Amino acid sequence: MATLEKAVVKGLAEDKGLYMPERIHKLPKEFFDNIQEMSFQDIAYNVASAFFGEDIDLDSLQDLVYDTLSFDCPLKKVEDNIYSLELFHGPTLAFKDVGARFMARLLQYFIRQEGDKGEVNVLVATSGDTGSAVANGFLGVEGIHVYVLYPKGKVSKIQECQFTTLGQNITAIEVDGVFDDCQSLVKSAFMDEELNRHMKLTSANSINVARFLPQAFYYFNAYARMKTELSDIRLSDRQIVICVPSGNFGNICAALFGHEMGLPIKRFIAANNANDVFYDYLQTGKYSPRPSIQTLANAMDVGDPSNFARIYELYGGSHERITSLISGATYSDQTISDTMRRCYEETGYILDPHGACGYRALKEGLKEGEVGVFCETAHPAKFKDVVERIIGSEIEIPERLAAFMKGKKQSVGMSKNFEDFKQYLLNQK
Ligand SMILES: *Cc1c(COP(=O)(O)O)cnc(C)c1O
Repeated sequence: MATLEKAVVKGLAEDKGLYMPERIHKLPKEFFDNIQEMSFQDIAYNVASAFFGEDIDLDSLQDLVYDTLSFDCPLKKVEDNIYSLELFHGPTLAFKDVGARFMARLLQYFIRQEGDKGEVNVLVATSGDTGSAVANGFLGVEGIHVYVLYPKGKVSKIQECQFTTLGQNITAIEVDGVFDDCQSLVKSAFMDEELNRHMKLTSANSINVARFLPQAFYYFNAYARMKTELSDIRLSDRQIVICVPSGNFGNICAALFGHEMGLPIKRFIAANNANDVFYDYLQTGKYSPRPSIQTLANAMDVGDPSNFARIYELYGGSHERITSLISGATYSDQTISDTMRRCYEETGYILDPHGACGYRALKEGLKEGEVGVFCETAHPAKFKDVVERIIGSEIEIPERLAAFMKGKKQSVGMSKNFEDFKQYLLNQK
């Protein structure tokens, strides 16, 4: 058991496990009855108070939520029965902006509550989009320094410049290895006593509750907007399926917490690229992590998803309960490209490689009477070269993305050996 403050500031539970919220409050029926009348921010504030309301005063929480959601997560119809929940309208054009912005603001709130007790250091491993979201979420936040660890040569140029060009309180560390090496450096750092005596460390990976829970906000919003969209049909006649392109499983985990809070979603689909250990778990009941492999949807190249343990625990370790609510899908790079090309030709909608897995899983998996919403987890322009090559057409780069590309790259080279990383951190003031 821990307070929210401790779970946020420490990030990783002391027994090396993950913090879980102790209770999940159900939201009242009236909330869902009237949800379509509410704004995204108001919906989010209601959800946030159910999660965090006992640990933060409500006025501060409301400010925090409103400030986090300075952008919308709109729902777009792609074709009959398939909707895209566009999560890329934030500063770094990926869904991780929501969790990262909320977490930065919550951490700052707790640091202020504690008074000045020295700098807090946030360590974050990234396979691409986490680093930029976290770095930008924390940029210029006083009392916090962020170290972003990323695998050398494995993130796109555009992704890289979103966290290597910022300066100020952000340090980018280029690790000679893969994402899993970055993640284990971060985990080892938290477990290292000497390092923890030397500096105050916290995690901003999707293992941090303050980062993954706020992602539930937009699923409630999606439900609200679907209610309006489908107002000509009784929603109960149409059953909503949510499909989440998944890597570390933080995003879908938040959706599942939302479901536990009463969000009326019929079932969920976790769409994977070739890194499909969760898919295998669904089929066999055995969880066998393995090294990640590189794919077109690189933010999902995860061989041992951190949040698997949380999902497992949420359903009491029951494979039967898990498979009755969640199904899986797995796609090769070839299928991802085919899907992007076809969707563009048939509907004009431009998918990014991650969203393509989600869209495809709905195309293949929706049953009679169901209507599907997939998360479009990043703007296609973040993967400009790949997307343009596949769809054979040029795409526009949004202004806020172009701005990053003008900056100068600054990063620290690092081996994947923990001793090297530890020495480096010990040498920081
Ligand atoms: C991080 C990321 C994912 C995977 O999300 P998880 O919460 O790790 O499952 C999918 N798509 C994009 C674009 C991402 O950045």
